[in-house]
Amino acid sequence: MKVHNFSAGPGILPAEVLQKASEAVINFDGLNLSLLEISHRSANFEAVMDKARALVKELTGLGDEYEVLFLQGGASMQFLQVPMNLMKNGGSAAYVNTGEWATRAIKEAKMLGNCEVIASSEDKNFNYIPEGFHAPAGTDYLHITSNNTIFGTQYHAFPETDGLLVCDMSSDIFSRKMDFSKFDLIYAGAQKNMGPAGTTLVIVKKEILGKTGRQIPTMLDYQVHIKGGSMYNTPPVFPIYVSMLTLEWLKNNGGLAWIEGVNRAKQELFYNTVDSLPNAFRGTAAKEDRSWMNATFVLTDESKDAEFAAMLKAANISQLKGHRSVGGYRASMYNALPLESVQVLCDVMKEFANKYA
Ligand SMILES: *Cc1c(COP(=O)(O)O)cnc(C)c1O
Repeated sequence: MKVHNFSAGPGILPAEVLQKASEAVINFDGLNLSLLEISHRSANFEAVMDKARALVKELTGLGDEYEVLFLQGGASMQFLQVPMNLMKNGGSAAYVNTGEWATRAIKEAKMLGNCEVIASSEDKNFNYIPEGFHAPAGTDYLHITSNNTIFGTQYHAFPETDGLLVCDMSSDIFSRKMDFSKFDLIYAGAQKNMGPAGTTLVIVKKEILGKTGRQIPTMLDYQVHIKGGSMYNTPPVFPIYVSMLTLEWLKNNGGLAWIEGVNRAKQELFYNTVDSLPNAFRGTAAKEDRSWMNATFVLTDESKDAEFAAMLKAANISQLKGHRSVGGYRASMYNALPLESVQVLCDVMKEFANKYA
């Protein structure tokens, strides 16, 4: 039975990646040992780490001035680790509040210094991306969230800023081509678009580190992890291995240019369908800021919710329920979700509209 997996996270992974990952759990690299029971300092695992890092460099086109780290603690740990490493003692940082995750990032930054929220879309339940904001001169960095997983909005152009630019890309990393060199630090929990839960990708420009004048606890210090090659302590070997396989899958299929085409087609099909059925559905995000990854929508007549849910179930459409703070539905269309699944969803939506709207 083919299940159409629209989960918002942990999200869908390519079938061939899951196949290879499951094989490595039993017999990794022909060693007759599991990936889970060998030293992370073995040549076999070192090769995995090296390859994962090289694939990130290759896909982003970033050079030696950047370091690639695979850490733990989720993107949520980065909410704290970023200000710890980049906010000067007594310094300040500028944040844009575009939703739940940005709000949590702001909460942590406020514990370490002067965190100024320079723009917010909270006035409209985060259904748009603010524009025309500028980080005040002298702030240590500007922090944005490229894709707002819960509210279904995404930056389609990035702000210009004189200082450092930091971005939480947890839910749209490697979903499209972009100029990654605009950013000084990028972080992403793996489990939305890159791998399983348990590791967080951090891409950081080396020269920005070591300038805060504060003492950084060892495990939170990026420089410690750079020096240790992401192995200062035992790395999460399985999430890193599966992330490596997913990055390899992406590269072998044609990289970011390829996936951008696939993701463009999926979101076009989905939003065209929503917009063509206004009597049945309404998208919740401002049109120009709609996310290609997480499409949020509600039923025009919510009393028909049980009918719609039953039709989704009959079509094997899984995990479409919206986050409680928005309600309705959310179609997460991460990289590994095929266009075919979006087509099945759109067919159900048309059928529902014909019957009930
Ligand atoms: C899911 C998510 C997070 C939180 O990630 P964890 O790995 O669970 O800490 C942060 N930011 C964004 C944009 C997310 O989608």
